[in-house]
Amino acid sequence: MIDFASARRRLVNMLKDEGIIRSDRVERAMLSVPREEFLPSYLRLYAYEDTPLEIMYGQTISAPHMVAMMCELLDLRPGLRVLEVGTGTGYHAAVCAEAMERKGTVYTIEYYPGLALYATQNLAKLGYLGVVHVFIGDGSKGLPRYAPFDRILVTAAAPRVPPKLLEQLSSDGIMVIPIEERFTQVLYVVTKEDGVPHMRPVTYVSFVKMRYSEE
Ligand code: SAH
Repeated sequence: MIDFASARRRLVNMLKDEGIIRSDRVERAMLSVPREEFLPSYLRLYAYEDTPLEIMYGQTISAPHMVAMMCELLDLRPGLRVLEVGTGTGYHAAVCAEAMERKGTVYTIEYYPGLALYATQNLAKLGYLGVVHVFIGDGSKGLPRYAPFDRILVTAAAPRVPPKLLEQLSSDGIMVIPIEERFTQVLYVVTKEDGVPHMRPVTYVSFVKMRYSEE
């Protein structure tokens, strides 16, 4: 038997030492969510390696440091309305829910119905479905019925900030999004200043590509 709880604690301590986890809120969230429960059984052994892992449909679950870093940048707190584009396994949505003390709502949208179902099952068995709502569709268009959002988390790289996502971000909201540049991808924190996007680059990253359309 693998001692997942100890492995999780060790990983969280390492991310604190590296300066990735900076707040008690994100530390508690990373300690609360069992990443192994979001992985197919043959990958569980690697649940607390700080690396992305390939899941179904050629998609990946992000590395723990990326999940923690994006949660820190989002400045999550109880009561917020959060949109995640790219549900994947549902792990990151669960970490967001914990960082909000399970108070508030995470709307998460996934392109592949098979992955949306997989994520829903993972989230259901851990009791997250009251806080996290999974949708199937093209998240580059956002989720207009539930807008505006206080926070938008994008976990696939887009060629530019999707205009519909910017529209659906509240005026004092925060979006964290990887953008494809010529030879690389850059993680940005996007805020709105008088309706105009303000983009702060954070670091180089490597995400799967977002399915993207502007129609
Ligand atoms: N956050 C996930 C990892 C996401 S990987 C986790 O914690 O496991 C990126 C995901 O974005 C993939 O599942 C991919 O299918 C999805 N995706 C790509 N383009 C998308 C789009 N336009 N709308 C919704 N999901 C999309």
